[in-house]
Amino acid sequence: MHELSLAVRLVALVEEEASRAACTTVSTVTIRLGVLSCVDPASLKLAFLAARKDTIAAAAELVIESASAHAICLSCQKPSDVSQRTSACPFCGAFALVVSGGDELRLVRLEVV
Ligand SMILES: [Zn+2]
Repeated sequence: MHELSLAVRLVALVEEEASRAACTTVSTVTIRLGVLSCVDPASLKLAFLAARKDTIAAAAELVIESASAHAICLSCQKPSDVSQRTSACPFCGAFALVVSGGDELRLVRLEVV
């Protein structure tokens, strides 16, 4: 259900952007989804199929780009990319990571015809 409400909001945003650009048909919707966003890409794609019905994006394909999260280790100060909130530092193994990003869901691009 989480994914469905996201998909509905995404389609609303797509309609808004498309009407601002005076487009009538959207062919591709590209979003960036953070690896820590707790959104399942497969479920989101399914939900998008339902949400796009009878909208400007009715025939649009949803492309999901994965956005990684960055972390700084409090122990060794080295930066790394993490895929889970519970990841350990790849350099020293400490769990004292300050994580930033990775929780976004952002509309990146619309392709129109
Ligand atoms: Zn470290």
